[in-house]
Amino acid sequence: MLATLVAAAFGLVAGSFLGLCAWRLPRGESVAGPPSRCTACRRRLRASENVPLFSFALQRGCCRGCGAAIGWRYPALEIACAAAFAACWLGWGAAGDERGFIRAAFFAACLLALAVCDAECRQLPDEITLGGWAVGLALASWAGALTPALAASFGGAGVLAAVGLGYQRARRREGLGWGDVKMVGLLGAFLGFEGMFVAVLLGSLAAAVVGVAQMLGVTMARRRRGQSWRRARAAAATYLTTASLPLGVYLAAGAGIALARGASMWRAWIG
Ligand SMILES: [Zn+2]
Repeated sequence: MLATLVAAAFGLVAGSFLGLCAWRLPRGESVAGPPSRCTACRRRLRASENVPLFSFALQRGCCRGCGAAIGWRYPALEIACAAAFAACWLGWGAAGDERGFIRAAFFAACLLALAVCDAECRQLPDEITLGGWAVGLALASWAGALTPALAASFGGAGVLAAVGLGYQRARRREGLGWGDVKMVGLLGAFLGFEGMFVAVLLGSLAAAVVGVAQMLGVTMARRRRGQSWRRARAAAATYLTTASLPLGVYLAAGAGIALARGASMWRAWIG
């Protein structure tokens, strides 16, 4: 119980750092420095304003200097990361697999940061996809499972790149971003073939369902405004080609599920 709480506390601190990464990396800023600032007035934050959750609660979600709203993304990420770390501890650490815990917790943190970056900025920063991929391979090697991690990550990213290039050639527009390809490499390094397959399958299915629902929504809205079916359908098709779906968010959700069900699978895999 105590260990789970400690893991959750680490998750809070990590989640706070993720909030900074997810804001700065898509904007091309460094996460190493300068220290945390208010994004509205650029005032440097004092240590007491940087405590995960508590600062947000104490300041009622506002900057102490300019009064600008801090945004729910920060406490939400901190809580999500704390919950993820606690769950990873229960899945691996409590069973005596500390390496598995470190691996799972790091991976969960990458997934959370990528989901926020993609949802907010439609970006999957290389620092997280490629950086996480490299760390994933190093951790897999530490756990004695480098070969399957290498095969899954390069195999998965290769297949996705081929699909993306094929689509681009057939339709003459980019259907898949390179960020998605690199993210699948990251998934392979941490989940292995089976888990990566489950994650990509679930993620693509969820994205497809949301895409179809959005197209239906646009069609029905046009119909209510008195447009013909033909014009309404054409508007929906245009909407789908112009609005980019944040595939990374769905891949991250699928990977979270694959990670959760993979706890037992992983242990059997690594032995
Ligand atoms: Zn401020």
